[in-house]
Amino acid sequence: MTYVVGEACIKCKYMDCVEVCPVDCFYEGENMLVIHPDECIDCGVCEPECPAEAIKPDTEADAAEKWGELNREYATLWPNITRKKDAPADADAWKDVENKFAEHFSATPGEGN
Ligand code: SF4
Ligand code: SF4
Repeated sequence: MTYVVGEACIKCKYMDCVEVCPVDCFYEGENMLVIHPDECIDCGVCEPECPAEAIKPDTEADAAEKWGELNREYATLWPNITRKKDAPADADAWKDVENKFAEHFSATPGEGN
């Protein structure tokens, strides 16, 4: 089991999650984060910290099917992030927008730290 980041993170990227992860297993894309499934220790502390409710356990079928492989793939391509940065200025405006993956997912790496 692992936790995965899903669509709600796209363009929100509040990064409260990186502050609490004890094993620093978040990786940063241009407009979302992912969790490395082999590094996550399933502690679950990040899930309630996410203002966008983007983090789910992969025991939820929807999270596993749609987001498991994407988290695994991009965790190996994007840089590690361990410290919270400022969220995008328009993050709140994107929080409840639907269909963000199809329209706004970016494979471009973030800056990491
Ligand atoms: S707190 Fe949630 S929205 Fe923010 S970066 Fe982490 S997963 Fe994405
Ligand atoms: S469940 Fe724990 S180890 Fe896994 S990403 Fe969240 S805080 Fe990190």
